[in-house]
Amino acid sequence: MISFIRLSLITSVLALLLLGCQQAEQRKQQQTEKTAIANIVVPKPSADSAFAYVKHQTDFGPRVPGSAAHEACANWLQQKLDVFTDTVYVQSFKTRVYNGTVFEGKNIIGVFNPQATKRIVLAAHWDSRPYADHDEDESKHRTPIDGANDGASGVGVLLEVARLMRLQPLDSNLGIDIVLFDLEDYGPHTDDRDRYGEDTWALGSQYWSKTPHKAGYQARFGILLDMVGAANPEFPREYFSQQYASWVLDKVWRKAFDLGYGAFFVNKPGSPISDDHLPMNQVAGIPTIDIIHLDPNSVNGTFFDGWHTSGDNISVIDPQTLRMVADVLVNVVYNEQ
Ligand SMILES: [Zn+2]
Repeated sequence: MISFIRLSLITSVLALLLLGCQQAEQRKQQQTEKTAIANIVVPKPSADSAFAYVKHQTDFGPRVPGSAAHEACANWLQQKLDVFTDTVYVQSFKTRVYNGTVFEGKNIIGVFNPQATKRIVLAAHWDSRPYADHDEDESKHRTPIDGANDGASGVGVLLEVARLMRLQPLDSNLGIDIVLFDLEDYGPHTDDRDRYGEDTWALGSQYWSKTPHKAGYQARFGILLDMVGAANPEFPREYFSQQYASWVLDKVWRKAFDLGYGAFFVNKPGSPISDDHLPMNQVAGIPTIDIIHLDPNSVNGTFFDGWHTSGDNISVIDPQTLRMVADVLVNVVYNEQ
């Protein structure tokens, strides 16, 4: 009897201890789950906010190097990045364009977590083309364009992404650099085709890739945005992105597919595009992809219909496209922590 009582007492104590341990274990597990869930919470981009950032740029007018609109927009971009990011660099450089004119360019760079060695670079160009040289109306062939899609859309998406990263800070071990390139689009006028050369485009990126904002700068990978704002876009796997950074394409396209955007981030090869990602890959050595709207069936045979025309204005921008691209970007970035 006694022994039974003793035994049952011991058993009860053991059972209680065990229960206590199990409960503690359960609590620990729940906590771990909570932490895990907290880690993968990804902020949601706003279509309205992204659209407002695009419109603010086009409201300055064409951001052609040397113009007052260009200057005013540079100041505004610097102010926005000052609010959202930890450190801002404005990289001024002199460059000669295809026709011999020398301009002062500005690459504007916003940095999150400057101390982190693991880094990702997100880029777009903020200048707009000085010529509507593909307009169906020939009288407009020397008129500068608003570049709502060709330029402002990518910058608008990156400002939205930067806003979210300020609201919901990333882990301190992951650094993000938002690089807004100048002078991407001052390549030769179509009437000067003989002056064509790959090195006449992407002048801001060429400069930054040789002379980054920080000596010895490196990033694990890069994502460039160009023409990411029109309705029903098609983003194929652009040729140079495939050549230099196919694993980045895989990562980003898989994320887009998981988010339900597979109809837009299509798994088919795209033609080679001379864009800011070329110097980033070839000179800076950062595997970088270009998310770019390509359309072989358009009037120009390569890009969206309004490319390098007066029609590339705010009316072609679909806020939902901007939101989608921002959503893909934040989901890629927050899952790299
Ligand atoms: Zn362009």
